Amino acid sequence: MATTTFVKKTLGLNKTEGTNKSPILKPESTFKKPKLGVSQSRKKDIPEGVWTKCPKCSAMLYDKELDENLKVCYHCHFHLPITARERIHSLVETCSFEEMDASMTSVDILQFTGVTSYVSKLEAYQNSTGLKDAVITGVGKLGRHRLALGVMDFTFLGGSMGSVVGEKLTRLIETATDKGLPLAIICTSGGARMYEGMFSLMQMAKTSAALAYHAKKKLPYISVLTHPTTAGVMASFATLGDLIIAEPGAMIGFAGPRVIKDTTQAELPPGFQTAEFLLDHGLIDAIVPRKELKEKLGFYLDFMSQSQSQDTAVA
Ligand SMILES: [Zn+2]
Repeated sequence: MATTTFVKKTLGLNKTEGTNKSPILKPESTFKKPKLGVSQSRKKDIPEGVWTKCPKCSAMLYDKELDENLKVCYHCHFHLPITARERIHSLVETCSFEEMDASMTSVDILQFTGVTSYVSKLEAYQNSTGLKDAVITGVGKLGRHRLALGVMDFTFLGGSMGSVVGEKLTRLIETATDKGLPLAIICTSGGARMYEGMFSLMQMAKTSAALAYHAKKKLPYISVLTHPTTAGVMASFATLGDLIIAEPGAMIGFAGPRVIKDTTQAELPPGFQTAEFLLDHGLIDAIVPRKELKEKLGFYLDFMSQSQSQDTAVA
């Protein structure tokens, strides 16, 4: 009997012994992460697809109102990502958009395999986005102008430019040139698509050459840079616009800031690679909030088509 009493006292941690109020037990109970439990239950309270948290001001935004506001936070005006289809809907007159090359899809030329194969990646992104590739092209009406419009979508493999993006944009530019139409491309991209190697890089030259023929006809091209526009796209058609405009706060650059910092071994200036910084330094011509984009594009097209007809009259 005496032995039994002794063992119980020494252990002290016997959970069946409810009366034991040893201080050793207290720290144990604090390791049960009660805070995590609270946040999990809060998360469950927010129905998915109803609210979105603003990445800048952390305000909870009602999705319906956010959609009506073109995915711009109605508290701090932060521009959240918008899909290509939503963008087209916000810019062209209802039912006026005729899509081109809608079924064009990428081919796995290099039979690329990494963690997963290129084919399975394409399939996964096609299923999740409902797109065939990272750009939608077509001709639509914006105000009184018929416009060749290309809109990139970052949700499809980071808006990367492979053969399909390059080919669809080239065909769009060539259609604009043949039909004498102004052109606008809404850009967002992580750059050339690594899964297609050199075939992706060749799209830079192809799109640039097509734009040169468009420019030769003195037809206006407006490039709109949205968050983020980088690398091979930035170094080709994105910065070849007669007018280059950007959305507020968009990250725009060729190489990423860390690569530049490591290469130059220099501190980068504040705001480096933002639309605002590039406006101050003359790379872009204007910053236009998303909600004003349609009106401003109409205004610029009015102005540019007027000067174009004056040029033709003089010639
Ligand atoms: Zn906000």
